[in-house]
Amino acid sequence: MNQPKKDQMLHITLMDGMVRGLLLTATNTVAEAAAIHCTSPVATAALGRSLMGTAMMGAMLKTDDASVTVTIDGGGPIGKIVCVADHDSVRGCVDNPHLEMPLRPDGKLSVGMAVGNAGRMSVVKDVGMKNPYVGQVQLYSGEIAEDFATYYVQSEQTPTLQSLGVLVNGETVLSAGGVLLQPLPGCPDSVISELELRSPLMADISRELCYEPMEDLAKKWFDGLKYVVLGESELSYRCNCSRSRMERALITLGQEELTRMIQDEQEGAELTCHFCKKTEKFTQHDLIKLLNQATRG
Ligand SMILES: [Zn+2]
Repeated sequence: MNQPKKDQMLHITLMDGMVRGLLLTATNTVAEAAAIHCTSPVATAALGRSLMGTAMMGAMLKTDDASVTVTIDGGGPIGKIVCVADHDSVRGCVDNPHLEMPLRPDGKLSVGMAVGNAGRMSVVKDVGMKNPYVGQVQLYSGEIAEDFATYYVQSEQTPTLQSLGVLVNGETVLSAGGVLLQPLPGCPDSVISELELRSPLMADISRELCYEPMEDLAKKWFDGLKYVVLGESELSYRCNCSRSRMERALITLGQEELTRMIQDEQEGAELTCHFCKKTEKFTQHDLIKLLNQATRG
């Protein structure tokens, strides 16, 4: 993979720290995902929103080697969406990237219909402890941003305002961005009401980002709310797969499955990474070596 272009995430607070937030511009990251998976417009939007929601969750992890995996399985025609993020990178895949759907009556992409709302969103946070943290919620709308917000409220007891948007024109990603705001415990109801009142301003974030950079939008959205940028971090679409990881995956298939592969696949096996589409070829001889390792345990 070529060196992907980086995107920017701003870490902010409002009202002297009573509200924390993240502002993400992720046009390059979503464009990279669309190019790798050759996504249709509705799949670009569904995968793009999921990537950004997961990346923001990743940016809130406490350590650099921690990671989070979000699986959205709503029972809709697009199938399952899986995204993995750490503090500065994200990757993802979708079962049916070429899905075409008619537009909604309001002219927007039918992300909710494509994803469906008859299933679950699950979150697995690997923070280096023995057991990962696992949370799961019923999907609320399949529109992704509302589903992430529901997850934070129900599974982490954190009230959250989340907005995620991807603007596409055919195969081109014009812009992509997201906002996450979380009032901390003790934040007065008046501040929360004010944020709810202003949330429609942030709803069309991808369109707004076509005209103004995030910093300028934020100054308008949060006028009078003591908006402070604490810092910024980078985000890019990045996969950490490698031949040795694939070898380990093959070994974990076990002796029986490897033996079957060696017998059935005279030409060896070709493995493709779900996230970056990189392929690695394993000859029959390679597979026999891996079988020997699997046998030794
Ligand atoms: Zn990969």
